[in-house]
Amino acid sequence: MERRISAFLEKRKRDELLRHLEQVEFRGKGKVTIQGKEYIDFSSNDYLGLASNQDMIERIRSAVLDGTAVSASRLMTGGLSLHHRLEEKIARFKNKPAALIFNSGYQANIGIISALCEKEDCIFSDRLNHASIIDGIRLSGASFFRFRHNDTGHLKELLEKERAKFRNALIVTETLFSMDGDIAPLNEIVELKNKYGCKLMVDEAHATGVFGPEGRGLAEQKGVSQDIDIIMGTFSKALAGFGAYAAFDNLFKQYLVNTCRSFIYSTALPTFVIAGNIAALDIVSKEDKRREGLLFKACYLRKELLAKGFDVRGESQIIPVITGENRNALTLCAYLKDKGFWTLPVRTPTVPVNESRIRISLSYDHTREMIDNLLLYVNEWREDAL
Ligand SMILES: *Cc1c(COP(=O)(O)O)cnc(C)c1O
Repeated sequence: MERRISAFLEKRKRDELLRHLEQVEFRGKGKVTIQGKEYIDFSSNDYLGLASNQDMIERIRSAVLDGTAVSASRLMTGGLSLHHRLEEKIARFKNKPAALIFNSGYQANIGIISALCEKEDCIFSDRLNHASIIDGIRLSGASFFRFRHNDTGHLKELLEKERAKFRNALIVTETLFSMDGDIAPLNEIVELKNKYGCKLMVDEAHATGVFGPEGRGLAEQKGVSQDIDIIMGTFSKALAGFGAYAAFDNLFKQYLVNTCRSFIYSTALPTFVIAGNIAALDIVSKEDKRREGLLFKACYLRKELLAKGFDVRGESQIIPVITGENRNALTLCAYLKDKGFWTLPVRTPTVPVNESRIRISLSYDHTREMIDNLLLYVNEWREDAL
């Protein structure tokens, strides 16, 4: 086995795709400290700046005074009333009758999809859906059709050709895509879902807290919550906490409590994590300025990059700047790092050939000056590189 592993690692290294774990000493307030050096952080998912919010920290601190954990699965020992409170809150927030808390987004997606779908079913999935969705589909054993990213024409074609061969069908998509920063055409997907008699599941990991009234997400913003059967999302991005949720009707909830293996066979989240998630929802609902400020800054940066002739994708707080070859994404990130900015290169095979990019993710904590300096250096790099 060691020989196979070594050969694999050698190849990764040759292809410049070997990954390692970066050690971060501090992250928050739009900054990150790595190996004693402080950078402006354009790589974090702390979109609303809640990770270092004092109100949140206080509420987590006081929750931990009552003890740390539940020590077992909720089905074994019973969950805390805090879990139920968070579930009621999420159900209201997402405009659904019920909700269930999961230990992470990854566990939610693999657990929900594999519990709801069986071998005899089929699943239609956007080509850029998150790995946890893909793994859930694989685990379910259902037939699997990928439609081109945000391409409802292609989805319709596949539905027309395949839907009738199966009894149950599920369509699944992210609402805001994490690598492209663009938004799914939910209204059209809902139309297709209704026409072809499918269930629809959406992943709002990156949209929750950022889009929609009170940060309720894109399903609410586009007015289609009632047509979506499963609205899933995480507490780990804009809400600066940990864990995930899914909102649906009581039938789905009851079924998943009884069948979803990643829910049943895992210890429930500890008190202080749940308290933090509740605090984040309270803050997000009250403080429109965070969401509005973030999206204003994103709009500004995107506009400026486009005006300078950069190939910029998306329509959100996630701003991918396409650099072409893998090498370019790496050199741009290295250049920015040298100037004190932390950004992430995203390379093939994560994205298509010649669409390597840096992924700039904005935070409410970024100032106009930080953004203007980033712009300056991205432009400088291009003049040097060409
Ligand atoms: C981050 C992410 C997940 C996984 O959530 P975790 O809580 O980090 O496990 C699932 N789906 C999408 C779209 C994500 O971006």
